[in-house]
Amino acid sequence: MSLLWQARFFTTVNHLRDLPNTQVPEIAFAGRSNAGKSTAINILCNQKRLAFASKTPGRTQHINYFSIGGAHVGQHRKDPTKVDEITALLVDLPGYGYAEVPGEAKNHWNELLGTYIQQREQLAALVLIMDARRPFTELDVQMLEWFAPTGKPVHCLLTKADKLNRNESTNALRQARTVLQSYADEEGQAFPFSVQLFSALKRVGLDEANDRILDLLGLSDSSAAVDDGDQ
Ligand code: GDP
Repeated sequence: MSLLWQARFFTTVNHLRDLPNTQVPEIAFAGRSNAGKSTAINILCNQKRLAFASKTPGRTQHINYFSIGGAHVGQHRKDPTKVDEITALLVDLPGYGYAEVPGEAKNHWNELLGTYIQQREQLAALVLIMDARRPFTELDVQMLEWFAPTGKPVHCLLTKADKLNRNESTNALRQARTVLQSYADEEGQAFPFSVQLFSALKRVGLDEANDRILDLLGLSDSSAAVDDGDQ
């Protein structure tokens, strides 16, 4: 059983000023709408409807927070979460790329998402969800470019890998690595970007994604061991 299975709804935010005043590390999931973000979050958290797939552009402008810790898995969903026992937060960012979103909503998206990912101190890392058949769309690249200067890690999930055959999967992974390695800082150092194949349908890459997310949150066995060593 993974710690991620403890995830439960914490809060919804529509304005930067409403971001929770928590100090625990958070990891954000970003992606083009329909890339499979909700499905990935739900399967990683072993829940059917934690993250809602939304097909309505108006509903995509919210940031949804899920907490890890502070509530028992079997606990009644209406029982309050003990905020001081929360160990980490998962953050479901609004899906982007709806063609029909009007200019005003796009500006709201830019400000909410851009400012959040560039300035949120508690944000430990970004999980970028991309359809393995068409990764690195313009807005995915925008997310990478916004985030790169923070120096924090990005882990990419190439979703719906079941739609590719073995050769295509290998190529998609190799090409994605090449794109990610092309990002370097002014001294030529590569950014901490990683990528893997993922399929919720065929349960491909679940363990790898789970381990990476816990590690980035400092919740994995190995990161706990490192913490102990520091004391
Ligand atoms: P979101 O808009 O990024 O949250 O995307 P959803 O999670 O709602 O998924 C969009 C569509 O892709 C839905 O029809 C899902 O059933 C489908 N989907 C998600 N993950 C997979 C997968 O691993 N394999 C396949 N074949 N389809 C998937």
